[in-house]
Amino acid sequence: MSPTLAARNATDELAASPDSEALERSEPSVWSVIAPVGREIRLGMVVSVVGLAVWLGSIMMFLPIVGELVADDRDSQRLVTLLAMSFGLVVVSLVCRTIAFRISHLAAFRLEQVLRTELTTHLAKVPYGKVLSAGSGAIKKVIVDDVRALHVFVADSTPTYARVFAAPLVTIVLMFVLDWRLALVSLVVLFVGLVAMSFAFRDADTVRRELDDANERVSGVINEYVQGMQVVRTFDDGSGSFERYRTALREMTEVLREWTGRSRFGGYVAKTVFAALPMVITLIVVGVPMYRNGSIDLQTLVVMLMLAPTLTESMVPIVWLQQAIVDAAASVKRIERWRAVEVLPEVTVGVAPLDASVELRNVTFRYEGRRDDALTGVSLQAPAGTVTALVGPSGSGKSTAAQLLLRFWDPDDGQVLIGGVDLRDMTSEQLSRTVGFVFQTPFLLADTITNNIRLARPDASDDDVERAARAAHAHDFIVDELPDGYDTVVGERGASLSGGQRQRITIARTILQDAPVIVLDEATAFADPDNEAKIHLALAALAQGKTLIVVAHRLSTVRDAHQIVVLDDGRVSESGTHAELVAAGGRYARLWSSFNRARDWGVRTHGDGPSDRSTTTARG
Ligand code: ADP
Repeated sequence: MSPTLAARNATDELAASPDSEALERSEPSVWSVIAPVGREIRLGMVVSVVGLAVWLGSIMMFLPIVGELVADDRDSQRLVTLLAMSFGLVVVSLVCRTIAFRISHLAAFRLEQVLRTELTTHLAKVPYGKVLSAGSGAIKKVIVDDVRALHVFVADSTPTYARVFAAPLVTIVLMFVLDWRLALVSLVVLFVGLVAMSFAFRDADTVRRELDDANERVSGVINEYVQGMQVVRTFDDGSGSFERYRTALREMTEVLREWTGRSRFGGYVAKTVFAALPMVITLIVVGVPMYRNGSIDLQTLVVMLMLAPTLTESMVPIVWLQQAIVDAAASVKRIERWRAVEVLPEVTVGVAPLDASVELRNVTFRYEGRRDDALTGVSLQAPAGTVTALVGPSGSGKSTAAQLLLRFWDPDDGQVLIGGVDLRDMTSEQLSRTVGFVFQTPFLLADTITNNIRLARPDASDDDVERAARAAHAHDFIVDELPDGYDTVVGERGASLSGGQRQRITIARTILQDAPVIVLDEATAFADPDNEAKIHLALAALAQGKTLIVVAHRLSTVRDAHQIVVLDDGRVSESGTHAELVAAGGRYARLWSSFNRARDWGVRTHGDGPSDRSTTTARG
């Protein structure tokens, strides 16, 4: 896949995420996603509520304590015992709180593991094209960031969540039992606070959503910018993409400013109205005259005043919990979108291909959310051991056809066959033994060179690995230039590899895989001349005796193909050998002559043969 395609796909992804519309409408619940650790979460909540009850108990102890304090015949022994008991209850309540959080943290760790395993297993089975077009950034966001967001939610919020519900309820009931008049006054204060708060947060959800959207737009544009950087650098000065980035960033800053102002204001309001002081002052103003005219006793008044802060303070977390749930819901939504992507159906007993021939039989394919087919009724046959080049203007469907051969997607209509067997009738193992591929963006793990090559065949010996590396013209630089030779870990300690070197390592991997069919997205477009020559040699070694399907971006490399298939707007417009197509005077002949003109122009102006710029002209 070309970087432009990758970039385009990254933006496409923003418009059409991998979800069903139904999911878009029904908000998946946070609780359903964290259900795997539901038992632990409930336990944590129960312990947290028990802690709350014990805390309230310690306050209730002040009924007899104050009673004892104001009694004429004070029993000091009893007073001390009561104080000690109250203190003991405070300690127990704190211990409960700690245990509740310990439980929730353990649950969060387990949830993280369960979700990651489930997601990665699922992603391994969904059409790979979907994963590819979403881009690694989006996948990382789900598997790493969103799962971590749920971890944080479960660890920090769930015990508090239970408390936030239980505390006001239990406290207000206690207050009503003690003195209904003061309890009523407290309720009024609470109500005023709630009204103020809902006013402060009246359209926080909308702003929040705008912020999320703006955020996604920015990461999309960054993604596009980074993925397309090679292209951007080569073909324009980057001002176009950079301008898009700046606009997206500006939009986000504006929404962010509004959001910060809004939430800061809301926060102030919440802190003020739910601080203990207003409530306590109100209760004193109302309660003290009641005490003076004898309609309430001192101990009840004192305990009411002590309960008041519990009541108000339990409301404060509602604000950030609300936010935590909104955040978690956004993560849940992205996780659920991926979980809802249907997996590619796979047979348990596969049919082995008869030979290495490749055939597209009347294939029609349309990307989800697109109005037009990417391929319409495409048929082509490539006998075993031949080279077939797919050419055509950008967007004509070359990469799509190549991806269908790797079963990144299944066709909507028609069949993709290798050795006479429909890809859907092979197991994924059979398929990966049959088809190898080399794409433009070489993929390497942060592991040793050996392990990176061995990825294709885990049972390969060190000799096999070296043989593959030699064939791929990678052995020399591995031994001469890398600090630990084959044991060098990619990306560590100065072991940064050039694009061409990475490419040759992935080619070595594909050589080791030794699949009879190779799909090649012409990988050399941007390599430097020295690397380019070596990559050509490596590819020649790879292609020897194989059926080769090349997505060709440059006509200079397709001349010798056994067959050239010209795609135009998702259809095969013509096919044949170079000579046949030039003689036919059709689309290919026109592409070829404009390619030649451009080359001549390149020779005349630079005197150094076809340049990359001229070849782009040929690409259309
Ligand atoms: P080529 O390789 O010839 O440049 P592609 O196969 O990449 O052409 O694209 C064929 C058509 O399919 C284009 O219209 C392109 O926009 C569309 N397309 C390619 N990849 C995707 C994708 N992942 N999602 C949606 N549309 C896509």
